[in-house]
Amino acid sequence: MQIRQPQFFTAPDFWKTTWEEVNTFLGGVQRGQVWEIGRSHSGHALRALAYGEAEILPRRTTYSSAIASGHPEDFYDPGRRQRPVLLIIGAIHAAEIEGTATCLNFAQVMETGKDLRGRSWPVLRQLAEKLRVVLVPLPQPDGRRRAPVRNLIGGTVDDLYYYGQGLFKNGEILRWPESKRLQPIPLDQMEFLGGYYNDAGVNIQHDDFFGRPAPETRALFDLAAAEIPDCILTLHSCGSGPFFIAPEAFISPACQFHQVQVAALVADRHRREGLRPGGGSRTALQGGFYFHTALHHHTGALPLLFEFPHGLEIKPFTFDEILDVGLSLFEEVMRYGVSGRYWPR
Ligand SMILES: [Zn+2]
Repeated sequence: MQIRQPQFFTAPDFWKTTWEEVNTFLGGVQRGQVWEIGRSHSGHALRALAYGEAEILPRRTTYSSAIASGHPEDFYDPGRRQRPVLLIIGAIHAAEIEGTATCLNFAQVMETGKDLRGRSWPVLRQLAEKLRVVLVPLPQPDGRRRAPVRNLIGGTVDDLYYYGQGLFKNGEILRWPESKRLQPIPLDQMEFLGGYYNDAGVNIQHDDFFGRPAPETRALFDLAAAEIPDCILTLHSCGSGPFFIAPEAFISPACQFHQVQVAALVADRHRREGLRPGGGSRTALQGGFYFHTALHHHTGALPLLFEFPHGLEIKPFTFDEILDVGLSLFEEVMRYGVSGRYWPR
């Protein structure tokens, strides 16, 4: 792996994103519950962290069958649950670590009342205590270990694609969205495989969901099936964030409505705080069948995909600003869940 800029491998103490930093943090958690949900292709542990009691509800049938019968409550009846469940999944694309830093700072708020900078978030904590919040800060450890950049602030789009998608042996950087034309990536053609993929070259975001999914995908699907979340928030990053992808085509109109509402509320919060939302404004339904779309059809959860800013030279952000983007995102998504439970559908 190239060191394209040395500052990509340094970060403030509050910005914990590497494999080692995340596991050390999780090892010190006191109030939350930490457990292993599975292993990556190369055998590295995927760990979840939860705040709020789990409520195990009876299940009579599959989601598909419950919908077809006209009785979705046979799969999951939100009226029987005291606290809505929010599942937050961090860096499936493991160079997109801004959400991972946010997950750990959120956990620190739940543990101590303050984020890792020492800043209080009383409203965030009050809202979170009315939910069960399950976090998977590093769901794709293979890529995180292979591309351990701590940030891409001030970087170029080539820097992003190098650490994200990788470099062919012929010297060409593998670019987005060309990278999506190969799944899995042919490892023998790569000089350096970016953090986008597990060690088998699989992009979890577009895995073979109904065929032979990667172990990371299997573990996350099983976690979602066990939790039956009311909402699943997946965290990505790009050069032009912050924004939500909304509304998406392959989900129900009711879920599209929630996606648009959450996106507007979060963008308004970011705009008021000078955090420069944009880059993803949508005027029509978007195609695309993604990991979070598949999770929706697996469990019925409201699927959300948020894009953080990396702070590339095309749209600069500081570490502090990116963390504020993330914690205010969490606060608004949780407020939406507390006030409306992410329902009705
Ligand atoms: Zn991504």
